[in-house]
Amino acid sequence: MTPMEKKPYSIPFSVSSALNTLRSAGFQAYPVGGCVRDLLLNREIHDWDLTTSASPDQIKQAFSQYPVVETGISHGTVTVCFPEMPLEITTYREDGEYKDHRHPDKVIFTQELGKDLARRDFTINAMALGESSQIIDFFQGADDLKKRQIRCVGSPDARFEEDGLRILRALRFASVLNFSIEKETERSLYEKKELLLTISPERIWSEFQKLLCGDAAVTVLRKYHSIFSVIFPEIKELKDFPQHNPYHCYDIWEHTLHALEHSPADFPLRCALLFHDSGKPEVFTRDSLGVGHFYGHEKVSLRKVRAVLSRFRSDKKTENLVSFLVEKHGIPLFPDPVLLKKRLRAFGPDKLQCLFEIQKADSSALALWEEKLIPLKQAEEMLRDILQEEHCFSIKDLAVSGRDLLPFLPEGPEIGKCLQELLSGVIEGLYPNQKEALLAIVQEKYTQKRNTGSLPE
Ligand code: ATP
Ligand code: MG
Repeated sequence: MTPMEKKPYSIPFSVSSALNTLRSAGFQAYPVGGCVRDLLLNREIHDWDLTTSASPDQIKQAFSQYPVVETGISHGTVTVCFPEMPLEITTYREDGEYKDHRHPDKVIFTQELGKDLARRDFTINAMALGESSQIIDFFQGADDLKKRQIRCVGSPDARFEEDGLRILRALRFASVLNFSIEKETERSLYEKKELLLTISPERIWSEFQKLLCGDAAVTVLRKYHSIFSVIFPEIKELKDFPQHNPYHCYDIWEHTLHALEHSPADFPLRCALLFHDSGKPEVFTRDSLGVGHFYGHEKVSLRKVRAVLSRFRSDKKTENLVSFLVEKHGIPLFPDPVLLKKRLRAFGPDKLQCLFEIQKADSSALALWEEKLIPLKQAEEMLRDILQEEHCFSIKDLAVSGRDLLPFLPEGPEIGKCLQELLSGVIEGLYPNQKEALLAIVQEKYTQKRNTGSLPE
């Protein structure tokens, strides 16, 4: 098929059949919002939202043969679970007044698509896809897509006053799409930034996670530092804080941003990098030569990042990994097999590999970056070999098990202690990881212990 013959927009079967069902029952129905934006941008669409003139009850009736979840029935949203995918279908609505900067006091169902589009946050999110694939676009969203800019539907001040989360959503779309923010919308972002303090931590965190993994996250963090400082006072002081140290060519904030630039788009890694040096201002000292030091900053950064993660109700898994990475971001890692196996024993392969990503990114943002980055990359390669060659670095890799030790040692904690000692010996290359050799060592040690009352070192 030549490009000319290609259908302009391909819609999944569930979506077109849902549209047909609603339309043949006499209602209007359109794909709307993010999916239309991503369709025009040729980006992968992860969810299709439909908007319709049917009321929630009429939607439920039209899809009575499918399971229906009343996702947000008071706001007019139901989720219809088609076999291929769930679809969110929402009744056209206008939002009533917002008294708390978060929720409309009431929603008003309407029969006008235009009113439904007008309540949406940004012009690029306020388009619908018509029956013959035409774009329904009352606010020049397609134009803004071409200009690659985020612009509020209507007055930015009023829209941010209604729902302060839109401030962060503007930054999220700027980061994910690598768009700029239109002047008037941008002015209002700065002016209204304190409204972010009225938003629930869960809503902020969910937008922030997407923002931080966006392609232009660093550009957005750099440009809007003062806005991010409202939700994260932990980063406020980092900007323009000089390090007075020959290893550093940037202030703490610029160093953080450069480190982030070298990070994969993975939330725990980027979150750890964002806060890894947040403890520095608190411990800053200068020696007699005027050189700056930040002794013990990792502990303070750990305290700060933990405060952030708990304030925003992060899930435990992310909290554990991010805390670990911040606390250990300065721990020595160099190309020495014994050291690497000790690290593997202490942290396990997954966490250690993440720590390498953090340290590579951190080192890449130093003045003397090669001095740190080259040995770090050598160490990472060595780690890869160690893992591939299945070296012994944990109790389960030992050629003996607790059961094998029973003829020599009484059941109980002594067995675990002995296994740990054997593991240390194997990691340090003192003992071979072979069953007979290890058992011979145990036998010898145990005999000595019986004679002397303690195990030899
Ligand atoms: P994503 O691709 O991340 O899902 P999205 O644009 O679909 O992006 P959603 O959060 O899923 O974003 O919201 C769906 C649509 O609902 C948006 O495109 C927008 O039209 C509207 N919307 C969402 N949140 C708001 C809000 N806080 N204020 C106004 N409109 C909003
Ligand atoms: Mg969406």
